[in-house]
Amino acid sequence: MEWIREADVIVVGAGFFGLTVAERLASESQKRVAIVDSRDHIGGNAHSYIEASSQVEVHTYGSHLFHTNNEKVWKYVSKFTEFNNYQHRVFAISRGEVFSLPVNLQTLSQLYPGITTVEQAAQLLASFPKDELNNFESKAISLVGEIAYNRFIKNYTEKQWQTNPRDLPAEIISRLPIRTNLDGRYFSDKYQGLPMDGYQKWQEKMVTDEKISIQLNTDFFDIQSQIGKNQLVIYTGPIDRYFGYKYGVLGWRTLDFETEVVEVDDYQGNSVVNYCDEIPEYTRIHEFKHLHPERSYTAGKTVIMKEFSRFAGKTDDPYYPINTSEDRAKLNKYREEAAQLKNVYFGGRLGTYQYLDMHMAIASALSLYENELRLATTGQ
Ligand SMILES: Cc1cc2nc3c(=O)[nH]c(=O)nc-3n(C[C@H](O)[C@H](O)[C@H](O)COP(=O)(O)OP(=O)(O)OC[C@H]3O[C@@H](n4cnc5c(N)ncnc54)[C@H](O)[C@@H]3O)c2cc1C
Repeated sequence: MEWIREADVIVVGAGFFGLTVAERLASESQKRVAIVDSRDHIGGNAHSYIEASSQVEVHTYGSHLFHTNNEKVWKYVSKFTEFNNYQHRVFAISRGEVFSLPVNLQTLSQLYPGITTVEQAAQLLASFPKDELNNFESKAISLVGEIAYNRFIKNYTEKQWQTNPRDLPAEIISRLPIRTNLDGRYFSDKYQGLPMDGYQKWQEKMVTDEKISIQLNTDFFDIQSQIGKNQLVIYTGPIDRYFGYKYGVLGWRTLDFETEVVEVDDYQGNSVVNYCDEIPEYTRIHEFKHLHPERSYTAGKTVIMKEFSRFAGKTDDPYYPINTSEDRAKLNKYREEAAQLKNVYFGGRLGTYQYLDMHMAIASALSLYENELRLATTGQ
């Protein structure tokens, strides 16, 4: 195929990692880049589209909130898009009541009437038992107490993992943000917002260089045999698949999404609401119009998306690495093999088997370019 022969570099995957590497190689190193993706769109999991009847931008794989403290990443992404001032807030529904998440002074005050100051909230959090922190449940209780754990975390976690939280490792919850003040924002990063003209326009703008070609609906393994010895490959697909699963399949969780147009202006009053009881079975509802309050929409319509979580089979989209000790042992073997390959670089969420937010995927792609690819492609 001509597009393969013409390329200096083949980038596998048109997610943010692949798009960033391709953009740098084409615009700075003057290389010809062919991007291949098995999906029918660019953007990877950060893809979005406009639902025609409501004019709402739907995030195909669940709400994607951009946030970063990384000045370099912020400067880089700002070349392609402007951002609105959206600050993410999440609410939780438990037994018919609405709470602010992450747990903050407001949440604690609702659960423990009389707690109204930052100092009281800090004292309350410090009073929770800190012994036996060897599983998810005991760790969660040590952080937020038994009442909040039972209201917001226990059932939600069981729905997410289909596993008793006592059988999950403590590390899963160690990064849970907890606040003693009334800050209800989900992220505290310096830079936050949603791309003004949507994710698709942002991603398209990254690959306008004529030295970049894009092949959609193309699986890398169908064209791999045609790649020449001197061509570089940047692979952002699953690392275990690259090696034919020879050391076993790495564990992932996947999500199922049910999207519907609802005939009301506003369904739940916020972009993301967590459903923390056993019933309903979904974990969250996304209502995308709240991400862009600056836009106008068709009156009397909104789009909601229910999210269900389960373990991924081999043919499901892998979303969150499970990362058991068995997974880590397999991953080490794959990484050892990957390090032996001369012209192939592994990157991104799937290629490194780690959860990466968008800003992390972009930062890691910029580092790969600056530390290795620039030299490998231009000798400088
Ligand atoms: C449900 C969900 C919600 C998220 N929410 C947020 C959020 O709110 N904020 C945030 O910052 N980040 C969020 N992220 C993370 C964000 O999506 C990732 O940072 C980003 O997708 C990472 O980019 P990537 O390029 O590494 O991977 P991906 O976006 O996964 O792109 C990889 C691409 O490779 C392609 N591919 C794989 N194998 C092959 C093959 N053999 N041949 C051809 N193509 C192949 C895939 O089709 C895919 O398009 C979320 C992720 C998920 C899963």
